[in-house]
Amino acid sequence: MRAPELRLYCFIDALGWKLAEQHGFLQDLLVTRAPLGTLLGYSSTCDPSILTGKLPREHGHFSFFYYDRLGSPLRWLSPLRWLPKQLTSRGRVRHWISKLVAKAYGYTGYFQLYNVPFEAMAYLNYSEKRDIYQSGGILGGQATFLDRWRASIPYALSNWRHSEERNLQSLTQDLGRPQRAYLYLAAMDAVLHRDGTQAASVRQKLQWYEKQLRQLVDRASGHYDQVKLYLFSDHGMTDVVRSLDLRTPLERMPLVYGQDYVAVIDSTVARFWFLKPEAERQIRDWLSGVAGGHLLSEQELHAYGCDFPGHFYGQLWYLADPGVLFCPGHLGEKPLAAMHGYDPEHPDSPGFFGASHEMSQTPAGLCDLYDLFCQDLP
Ligand SMILES: [Zn+2]
Repeated sequence: MRAPELRLYCFIDALGWKLAEQHGFLQDLLVTRAPLGTLLGYSSTCDPSILTGKLPREHGHFSFFYYDRLGSPLRWLSPLRWLPKQLTSRGRVRHWISKLVAKAYGYTGYFQLYNVPFEAMAYLNYSEKRDIYQSGGILGGQATFLDRWRASIPYALSNWRHSEERNLQSLTQDLGRPQRAYLYLAAMDAVLHRDGTQAASVRQKLQWYEKQLRQLVDRASGHYDQVKLYLFSDHGMTDVVRSLDLRTPLERMPLVYGQDYVAVIDSTVARFWFLKPEAERQIRDWLSGVAGGHLLSEQELHAYGCDFPGHFYGQLWYLADPGVLFCPGHLGEKPLAAMHGYDPEHPDSPGFFGASHEMSQTPAGLCDLYDLFCQDLP
């Protein structure tokens, strides 16, 4: 028996509006196409907004690391700083330690120690300890659209731990049962970071997505009277033009991490907390004179929805200019060909939104997707 309708919501990480239009991505299938406004931050900021329809200051997610001296669950990792750096700076070793920590604490979310020095761990907490795609995963306690689906309708949800091939396969096998499906495809982000937006590998990856999605919609049409495809991304991608090392000059200042200040240097945003007023003066003075970015004002943070209660993601934020990569930082050590997490208004930043049918109004930004996911629920 054929089911009446499938609404298929497909997420492709880092498929920017510019990239999709440059390649005419699924031009014939997606008749509605529009840029989708993004947020300041990374997938760790954007995905909770997609799930809840709320701004970062409301759902409480921005970056993975934040200052929390009294509550740091990572404190016991600090003795690892005495181990040889050649060992503890290796990606594979850090990945392995991250897995052990996640297991020991029962973390269900995406947990990675990245390049954060072990001596800094005693002062930091981690935002995504719980799986944000499961109930109760959002720090601010908000329900997600998936909670609404769980309560009302047969649905399918990809597992973000699985490969794209596996997620496509399990949805294909499930066709006929769910009335709504959330397909999670996140592998292109890494290809873009590695090779840049104009690489042949990016074109190949887009062609692969086109083939897979055409096939999926085709198969779905055999099971449903109507198939509506919505396709969107969280952010775009900017080619990196230069690296900026903030870490070395910061470590050379006559200040002590954990005593005078605490810092987390993400790829495009450096955030600082001050334990002594003198440290704030010195760091502020230094950053005001560094070319390649600017200090964010309270007004800018408010406009970005990143004015977090108690400044818990940082008392001072320094944002990189588009194309500048903070490297080496606390998250990445190696240079990348492309990055995101710049000014959301920059032409490279918006994500893509597309639908397989005419729409009178398209979502303007990530927070508007929530209403689309929940439209017409019983
Ligand atoms: Zn990325």
